[in-house]
Amino acid sequence: MRPTGSGAVLTMRADIHPKYHTVLVHCACGNTFTTRSTRPEIRVDVCSACHPYFTGAQKFVDTAGRVDKFRRRYARGAAANTPQTDSGS
Ligand SMILES: [Zn+2]
Repeated sequence: MRPTGSGAVLTMRADIHPKYHTVLVHCACGNTFTTRSTRPEIRVDVCSACHPYFTGAQKFVDTAGRVDKFRRRYARGAAANTPQTDSGS
């Protein structure tokens, strides 16, 4: 509730807001912790217990296999750069 200046008081409208409750957050590393959200539960890939920024470990956080994609492309490029005799240049 907050005053509007005209003497009236604004309140949250009933029955239109999602429930805001305490939920458990599950990380891919196995860590769990609680926060508050309107969602029933939350699943995350990294958390403060396993993210390299907090652990200090030098470890790649591979988003959607981009490192693999790069390695595959590099391997193909290296194969293409081997001497070939069929192209005359
Ligand atoms: Zn984690």
